Amino acid sequence: RLISPVPVSVREEALERALRPKQLDEYVGQEKVRGQLSLFIEAAKMRQEPLDHVLLFGPPGLGKTTLAHIIAREMGVNLRQTSGPVLERAGDLAALLTNLEPNDVLFIDEIHRLSPVVEEILYPALEDYQIDIMIGEGPGARSVKLDLPPFTLVGATTRAGMLTNPLRDRFGIIGRLEFYTPQELQRIVMRSSGLLEMNLSDDGALEVARRSRGTPRIANRLLRRVRDYADVRAGGDASRKVADAALTMLDVDAQGLDLMDRKLLLTVIEKFAGGPVGVDNLAAAIGEERDTIEDVLEPYLIQQGYLQRTPRGRMATANAWLHFGLPQPGNPAN
Ligand code: ADP
Repeated sequence: RLISPVPVSVREEALERALRPKQLDEYVGQEKVRGQLSLFIEAAKMRQEPLDHVLLFGPPGLGKTTLAHIIAREMGVNLRQTSGPVLERAGDLAALLTNLEPNDVLFIDEIHRLSPVVEEILYPALEDYQIDIMIGEGPGARSVKLDLPPFTLVGATTRAGMLTNPLRDRFGIIGRLEFYTPQELQRIVMRSSGLLEMNLSDDGALEVARRSRGTPRIANRLLRRVRDYADVRAGGDASRKVADAALTMLDVDAQGLDLMDRKLLLTVIEKFAGGPVGVDNLAAAIGEERDTIEDVLEPYLIQQGYLQRTPRGRMATANAWLHFGLPQPGNPAN
């Protein structure tokens, strides 16, 4: 699956790690978040304090994990990584927190999926660097306060709206990651092609960039498929033509929509007369999870102007009808 929100194999994960920029000035795009972080990191370092807690939100693959690693590196501290669903019991989080060194970064991916008991433990940890833990069981159990070293929590989530208010309020720095422009992705792809020792032309890189749903993870994924195609069919030269042929073979169309994007849009158009259709109905009709639609598929389709979210459900825009060469009922332009 091209648009799988997470790395699809251990091999891909290793490759992603290798392609990850390590410093803030290597991190392409996201000017606003980057500018804020650069300033706050410098201030925290001057005062020898931990950086304030950071919440990063945005669709998968836009660089939240990468940024968490960069923050730790720029602060000169260790990063401990975990994720919301992995922290099942309060003790799991307590163990992590008590093992931190001063000013370390704790990165919690999918922080909106923390269980309520774990979240409760987190509040005093974030505010006062303290946790209350229960020792023993039954009538003899008692609560003990433990002091923690000062630390920075970096939380990542696909949608900030899914966090509880008390948790969101405890972050001092909130950064929203945006889809990348083709020019930004072109720079990322060119850099990756160097690390992959590929022979990629500028316009070949732009072709991959234009068709990567604004997402670095997808751009790097498509780039590797273009490399395969170039090696087998074009003597290793990844020109624009070769990139186009490889992407077309992967069912990524000229506008950069893939099979799932087209299936979603065509379903809205053909089965629901262009909408509005509720997201649950749509999920059932295309056989996808509601979360995948909301986190992965529709943010890009909305940003690109193919889909609209209305109070009554999702609607295909005139652009979407046009994309498939279908006449939109009631549109005077037809
Ligand atoms: P997320 O945590 O948001 O799902 P990641 O941080 O894992 O995304 O990023 C996915 C891949 O995209 C990484 O391997 C990284 O190489 C690349 N990437 C993400 N953001 C950038 C960026 N701003 N500049 C260069 N490469 C990036």
